[in-house]
Amino acid sequence: MYEGPVQDLIEELGRLPGVGPKSAQRIAFHLLASDPADLARLAHVLIEVKDKVRFCALCFNVAEGERCRICLDSRRADDVICVVEEPKDVVAIERTREFRGRYHVLGGAISPIEGVGPDDLRIRELMARLADGAVLEVILATDPNTEGEATATYLARLLAPMGLRVSRLASGLPVGGDLEYADEVTLGRAFEGRRLVGGP
Ligand SMILES: [Zn+2]
Repeated sequence: MYEGPVQDLIEELGRLPGVGPKSAQRIAFHLLASDPADLARLAHVLIEVKDKVRFCALCFNVAEGERCRICLDSRRADDVICVVEEPKDVVAIERTREFRGRYHVLGGAISPIEGVGPDDLRIRELMARLADGAVLEVILATDPNTEGEATATYLARLLAPMGLRVSRLASGLPVGGDLEYADEVTLGRAFEGRRLVGGP
């Protein structure tokens, strides 16, 4: 244990995903030894990121303006939506080049342990996008772990009466992991081999 600002810094860093106490300590002392100009730049982007980065009003992907670049791209198909948990999953799927439709970012997954229910996700907004019948297929590309499966099952049930094709990414993805950790080839294959879980 350290005192004052050093300990505060270690604690804050330790709250970041994937940073354990040991790493937090290592990063803190690395920062302490850094050039003041480098630290100032880091502090500046940390403050700016919340102000400048927005979420797309339609799909909730990260966006610089009102809509993200995928929603603005007129060459993409309007009749298929791929549902993912986080904006980073959009990046992972885009890397595969297997998908040319639109996205919907839920903002997480159903997790009773963490107190995240369907109302905490952007499911209402998804249903609103499907209301006019222009979308014919929904691909459920939530993570291949317990929360992701629970979310996909919930959505498949919710979408069942709407008469859409509903598909889920094929198995073969590393179970228990995050979509973003799958390599492009594996994720691309899971996309191609997606299985129908509802609809005509
Ligand atoms: Zn968008």
